[in-house]
Order: sequence, then C-alpha cells, then structure tokens
Amino acid sequence: MHRMRALALATAVVGAAIVPASATAPLTSAAPPPCSEEPRENPISEFTSYDELLVELDRIERVSAGRVEVQKVGESNRGRDMLLARVGTGPKVVLITAEIHGNEKTGPDATLDLLDFLGTSDSAHAKRIREQLTVVAMPKINPDAGALDRRGNDMTWEEVQQRFPQLAAAQPPWNYYTDQRQGDDYSQRPGFDVNRDYNPDLDYQPRPQDFPGASDQPGWFISPETQTVRDVYKSLQQEFGVVDTYIDLHHQGACYTVPGTDRFVTMSLSGKFVADPNTPEGAEYAEFADTFRPEYSKQLNVAAYNALQAAANHNPEFGNITLYPQDIDLPGTGLGAFQLNGSGAVLFEVRGQTQTLGEQHRAMLTRTVYIGLDGILSAIASGQVDAIDPADYDRIPPTDRGQQTKTALTDIES
Ligand SMILES: [Zn+2]
Repeated sequence: MHRMRALALATAVVGAAIVPASATAPLTSAAPPPCSEEPRENPISEFTSYDELLVELDRIERVSAGRVEVQKVGESNRGRDMLLARVGTGPKVVLITAEIHGNEKTGPDATLDLLDFLGTSDSAHAKRIREQLTVVAMPKINPDAGALDRRGNDMTWEEVQQRFPQLAAAQPPWNYYTDQRQGDDYSQRPGFDVNRDYNPDLDYQPRPQDFPGASDQPGWFISPETQTVRDVYKSLQQEFGVVDTYIDLHHQGACYTVPGTDRFVTMSLSGKFVADPNTPEGAEYAEFADTFRPEYSKQLNVAAYNALQAAANHNPEFGNITLYPQDIDLPGTGLGAFQLNGSGAVLFEVRGQTQTLGEQHRAMLTRTVYIGLDGILSAIASGQVDAIDPADYDRIPPTDRGQQTKTALTDIES
C-alpha cells in the first residue's frame, strides 16, 4: 500500500473528529497518522472460519485421493476439534502451526492453499516435496480465540486450578487476560496468551512456584491447545527422531516500515527466539546445547526471504520483508521450546492483526505466507537449504518500528 492511500484511509476512519492537515501545513506530529494501530471493528468474513475449515479440510482430504490425511488430535478448551493434516512420505518432517493468536488469520488460509497444492498437484515440484518431506499442518491451533477474533483463548484461571489441584494457591500467570486488550474485553470471558504456555521441557508438569512467571521464562502447558501441539510434536519426534523444521504463522503491527523507505513491512521473519545454550547468556538452556541448531534456523529463514524477493518481480509488496526484533528471549513460545529441542524454527509475522487491518490485503498477505512456506519446503526438499549462507540472515533488513521503544519490545504482541 502506498502512503498516500494509507493516509486517506486513516483520515476516513477518524472522520470529522480530526481536522485534516491542510494543503499548506507540513506533516508534523499534529497531523493524523498515516497508519493507525488503534483497534477498530473490521470485516473479517473473507478469512476461513472454524466451520469453513472443517469443510475445507474434508474437501482437500477427499480430492487428494489419499495424499492428505486429516485427523483430530485434540480439543480446545471450549471443545472445538483441533485438526491436523498430513501430506507427504519423506524422511524429514516439517510442522506448521497457525492462528495461535485468533486475530491473526492469514496463516490458516495460506496453510489450506498449501495443503490443496500438495494434495492435488502432479507437478514435479509437488512430487518432490511429497517424496522428500512429510508436511504436518495444524491450521488453527487456538480455535476458541479464532472464533472470538481475539488474541487470548477462552479459559479461566479457575478452570486451570480445577485441572491442576497443585495450583490451588498459585498466582494466576502474567499472561492471563481479564481486562481490555487490543480492543477486546476479557472481563466477562477471560483467557490466556497461550503463545507463552510452552516449555522447552516437553514433559514439564505445572508447579505452583513457577507462577506467575514472565515473558522471558518458560510456560507451563496449562492450556489444552498447547498440550495438543506439544503431544503432536512429541509423537513426531518419536516417529522421525527429530522434527526437522517448525514454522509458526503470526501477524504483527500494521504500521512498521522497511528502514530508509516509506514502504510498509509486508512480513517479518525470525529464526531467533532464545539465547544460544552454547553462550553465557543461554546458560539456563545448557541441557539443550547439543540439539540446538541456530544456523539451520537462519538458513530456513533465508530460504523464505529469497523466495519472496524473487516473487517481488511480480508484485513489489512481496519484497517488503524484514527481520523481526532479535533481542528477545521467549522460551514459552512453541518456537523457542521446539528450537531448543532441535528443530530449525521460523516465525512469520504478517502485517496487521484483524483489529487494525481486518481483511484488507488478505489475498496479497496470504500469498506472501504461501510463497514463504513454499520457499522453505522447496529448499529443504531439494537440499539447497544446506548451501545457503547463514550470514545472509543477518543481512535481512531490520524492522523500523518507528516510535516504539526497546522497552515496549519486552511485551511483544505479535
Ligand atoms: Zn501472534
């Protein structure tokens, strides 16, 4: 999107409440922002709903003539099925999860497009991926949040305490939402940011002394959603030895820019989520020093980046890709936990959550995710990922977050 169009939209949204900048006035801090992070009600019906997901997975399974296998692997806290689709018979397994934050909705759509392609295409490209890889996709790992179009799941601390009696006297965790957040009211329907509920120790059981915790500490597997993903991961470890690659699909702020330009970031990438266990900063993760493969995570990210830069010939928006902030320590995310367990890990952060962009740019953003996923799968299946220089990762431009300070990054909401 061009800045001028964004400016016009922002002005239209705030309407007459703000006097538009006159033709002669310079664009100062008094002018309306060219892009807004203010939460608002936006249409989202073009995105795949939970009910539509069930229909679509069933359809893909049928038309794939046995290539795609769909199974129920768990239930969300409110009893929605958590579904997994598997395609390919190769020796390396790639696990893809999407929509752990229910207001981040291009991931499920891109995942369905990918499953459709891998399940039905007779191209050499699709065949090679099916032969070399086993792709396991969980398109909606937080369906309760998805149905509510919000970040947190739908679960009270009291429910957790009933399931884990040892937590009767524990404080609720730091990521328990009971108030206003991103335009959503959690006071009548509390929930957790389950993207901090993972733990690198996949056999961890909740202990009261580990609460309330913090963003830079491990989580507890107190939610059915993370328990289900954890169980899938462990079963894949048993089957394949190591889960080669883990990709988690998210959205971030709507107004970040590519440094030195006025172009909005279409998507950010990251392969770094915890401190390296082989360094003093990562000493707390020392038990994972032998399994940790940070260079491989970098190579996988570069594969996605390169595929998108190539696609920018068709649409320059595909080229507006940056690196997500690297000064983070998030062992409570699936990415951090699984990376420590030996997976190459990739984070996609697509532009704009539903409370800012709604379904604007849905097709382009979904295609961006698809191209990035295909770039990674292609590079692994062909073996070309091994030839990628990990140093190319550090040459991906950083994200210009404007006025957002480093302090604010400690509470990353993406
Ligand atoms: Zn997210």
